[in-house]
Amino acid sequence: MAAFRIGLGYDSHRLAPVGEGGGEGAGGQVARPMIIGGVAFASARGPVAHSDGDALMHAITDAVLGAAGLPDIGQLFPDRDPRWAGAASEVFLLEAVEQARRGGWVVGNVDATVIVDEPKLGPRKDEVRANLARLLAVDVSSVNVKGKTHELGGEPSKNIEAMAAVLLVRG
Ligand code: MG
Repeated sequence: MAAFRIGLGYDSHRLAPVGEGGGEGAGGQVARPMIIGGVAFASARGPVAHSDGDALMHAITDAVLGAAGLPDIGQLFPDRDPRWAGAASEVFLLEAVEQARRGGWVVGNVDATVIVDEPKLGPRKDEVRANLARLLAVDVSSVNVKGKTHELGGEPSKNIEAMAAVLLVRG
């Protein structure tokens, strides 16, 4: 039996003025206040989503699930299920960690990147890391979060993206 398992997660959400509809193809979803890694950020725009739209939390959740060989976040928490409307995404992450634990795995470390032009992640990165470490039951030194901008020139991007790599170890 392997001693380690690695997982990869990715998520993206369109950004729109908070409270406004996401427009065509959004299925009636509205832009939620900006939450990154469970931390609320002041931002005129937020993610169009069924849940709270926390792209970082979703990417880490999928990385945990992927490493454990479990179904992905969309399979476990369908975005048509009214139970998850506006849900705090820590519910998803905690459930993923619990399901991994039942399979004999605990989180070793997480490395993640958030790509968003506004708000800036840098000044509050340690808050985000501390919150994720609490949810994952690991030391904060085992959670790394990097903030990037799209660097595409012109207007700020209307998307937030996040990617995460998670190492699971035998618990
Ligand atoms: Mg998502």
